[in-house]
Amino acid sequence: NLRVLLRERPKDRPGPEHFELSEGPRPTAAKGEVLVRHRFLSLDPYMRGRMDDAASYARPVPLGGVMEGECVGEVVESQHPGFAPGDWVGGARGWQRYSVAPGGTLLKLPKEGGVPPTAWLGVLGMPGVTAWVGVTEIGQPRPGETFVVSAASGAVGGVAGQVAKQMGARVIGIAGGAEKCRYVTETLGFDACLDHRGDLEAALDAACPEGIDVYFENVGGAVQEAVFPRMREFGRMAFCGTVATYNVRPPPPGPNLSSINRKRLRLQGFIVSDHPRAWPVWRQRGAAWIRDGRLKWKEDVVQGLENAPEAFIGLLEGRNFGKLVVAL
Ligand code: NDP
Repeated sequence: NLRVLLRERPKDRPGPEHFELSEGPRPTAAKGEVLVRHRFLSLDPYMRGRMDDAASYARPVPLGGVMEGECVGEVVESQHPGFAPGDWVGGARGWQRYSVAPGGTLLKLPKEGGVPPTAWLGVLGMPGVTAWVGVTEIGQPRPGETFVVSAASGAVGGVAGQVAKQMGARVIGIAGGAEKCRYVTETLGFDACLDHRGDLEAALDAACPEGIDVYFENVGGAVQEAVFPRMREFGRMAFCGTVATYNVRPPPPGPNLSSINRKRLRLQGFIVSDHPRAWPVWRQRGAAWIRDGRLKWKEDVVQGLENAPEAFIGLLEGRNFGKLVVAL
């Protein structure tokens, strides 16, 4: 069983020296299990994270362990009533030729339907589902809104833009190079595609004169920097991944926005004046809490209007202690 093992953890960019090709014994299926000859292995950006031993949402590949990855392949031996030799299945795992898995963890791929087996690794597999969830549950583009997606020619981005298009959005892709951009508009049917190797800020201004309602973030870095200030009020970002940062060590200065994705954070800006119904609710609740002693506060009272400018300047430098008010 030919396998690719993790030999060493990369410091930044992975190189061939971090992997090791190894011949191991071919596994056999026990009761309830299925032996699969892998035919296609999916390679995905998340695998870079599995090569590190930093805390994350998934366990790292152990040193000397088989690299993690999803495969489709053919059943060669089955001890599970649901599968027979010759069946094509998805859900097999590892950068290797063979694996054994409990039948319940495998998906039998339909023989008919015109869908090639590789589609179950991409458009109908994990990346496709990622796009579907990010668009329909997080981005939620409405008809006529401007939807921007980076890595637009890729596995996730290509599906994300097409789903958004089906939902009636104006879809703008961002991709690297003219050939990818042409594919995104001509084959995938996006309304436009911008090359991030050119002047992306100017291209975004031209393509999205009203700003961006939904951004589906796949890359981070300079692309993200260009998109952020162009978001419209009440815009939404589906923070899917930041592939441009996966090899960057130490991380670039500023908050590491990949935490938004890794830790499933939700960031939502707000302005209090947009919430008129909250005002009477809080006034009533707060007054009651003051009366029963539950709510405490402190005031910093400055005497005389003539001292207001100095007090205000101090407020911006932290010289006040408590709610600053001026007694006139
Ligand atoms: P892709 O097929 O889109 O391939 C990666 C692409 O990223 C490249 O082709 C390139 O496209 C772009 N890219 C790579 N490096 C850079 C860089 N330095 N600057 C700008 N662009 C870069 O990969 P996937 O569709 O599989 O993944 C896309 C994103 O989705 C990744 O961030 C991945 O981690 C994330 N993801 C998240 C999941 C989740 O559950 N949250 C699940 C699956 C994927 P180009 O040349 O067009 O820039």
